[in-house]
Amino acid sequence: MKKTKETEEYFSVFIDGKPESKGKLKGLTFSFKDNICVKGIETKASSKILEGYKPLFDATAVERIRGEGGQIIGKTIQDEFGFGSFCTNTGIGIKPPKNPVDKERVTGGSSGGSAAAVKVLDNHVSIAESTGGSIANPAAFCGVIGLTPTYGLVSRHGLLDYANSLDKIGVISRNIKDAARTLSVIAGSDGKDMTCTAEKKDYEGYLGESVKGMTIGIPKEYVRGLDPEVEKGFLVTRKILEKKGVRFKDVSLRKNAEYSIPTYYVIAMCEASTNLAKYSGLRYGYTEEIENEHYDNFYSRVRGSAFGEEAKRRILLGTFARMTGYRDAYYDKALKARTILINEYKEAFKDCDAIMHPTMPILPPTFEDAKKLTPLQNYMLDLLTVGANLAGLPHISVPAKNTKLPVGVMFTADHFDEEKLIILGESLE
Ligand code: GLN
Repeated sequence: MKKTKETEEYFSVFIDGKPESKGKLKGLTFSFKDNICVKGIETKASSKILEGYKPLFDATAVERIRGEGGQIIGKTIQDEFGFGSFCTNTGIGIKPPKNPVDKERVTGGSSGGSAAAVKVLDNHVSIAESTGGSIANPAAFCGVIGLTPTYGLVSRHGLLDYANSLDKIGVISRNIKDAARTLSVIAGSDGKDMTCTAEKKDYEGYLGESVKGMTIGIPKEYVRGLDPEVEKGFLVTRKILEKKGVRFKDVSLRKNAEYSIPTYYVIAMCEASTNLAKYSGLRYGYTEEIENEHYDNFYSRVRGSAFGEEAKRRILLGTFARMTGYRDAYYDKALKARTILINEYKEAFKDCDAIMHPTMPILPPTFEDAKKLTPLQNYMLDLLTVGANLAGLPHISVPAKNTKLPVGVMFTADHFDEEKLIILGESLE
């Protein structure tokens, strides 16, 4: 595979490589989001603070992919540490990638480089990560498939954590078959991640199964206030499924619609602020020379000059919400709310195989429009993706039909029901 202007834009490191002819993953090349450790290759989650950091080991997902003949061709650009929805919060000195479908528009985020790379490269799969929607969102904006597995199905060993109770490693691909075969390789228990104990299924074995007789819930709160083009794509896709024998019913995710954004952002920022504490200029990546100064000044200087604006915002907000006196009011309360929100999904799954709604309420915005949003307006746009992520539920974003710009339709299934997403996704290809 040749280095081109596009690969340069989507990859932080690009290595020439041809697909292998052996193993379950033969014929495919792979890239990894920049927050997944690949031995000997700079891994920095698109942050200046990790400049020059080369892991001494492979993440479990990387090791498993190598073991099945997956050819690794590089690391993809992301929002710094995963903090964003447009891939415009790339760290200092890193250019945001442009949407391959329309260069004026963003790729979505935080795994923007991954989704864009899959859009432009044939026989390519990107391993990405989602905390609150970072696989589904860029997949929707770039017109490709994004599969986020159940929390704990894929090992997080070797992932640079954003928020440990939310992070999932998953797959961005052009077709369902590649997603299924990649998931079959990376899923399954791992002694190096205590939260990864689930046994995997033979996901490829479900390819070709029919959707006939499936029941899908549509949360009424999640199909309001959509961009008209998003609504159109969603309705057309729904019709196609209806013709194939899928039954639809209304469900309510009222509590999620109201509380998932504040719950998610409190938990995500609290966990992020502790995770980023280790980047202090002593052990990894970027550092500065100082003499005769207090070490507090050293930390401040390093962190002040190497973290981007959004990372700093989250460190401050997360640290504040964890302070004595505030912890009960924010973090502990958010954990309680999280349980209520999970139960609301569980209730819906009592008589639905999956839940369906658009992935993002808007079309990929132009860079100019994205810049005009305040942080809060920006966070609100994650409304449709954070609920499934808070609940650790598997979900997939697939391209909607008949739209001028890419629109994603998102299906969410109950825990460890990834095969239903594969069947639904394939029926729309
Ligand atoms: N946009 C969300 C956030 O900024 C989700 C990002 C992600 O899943 N990494 O936190």
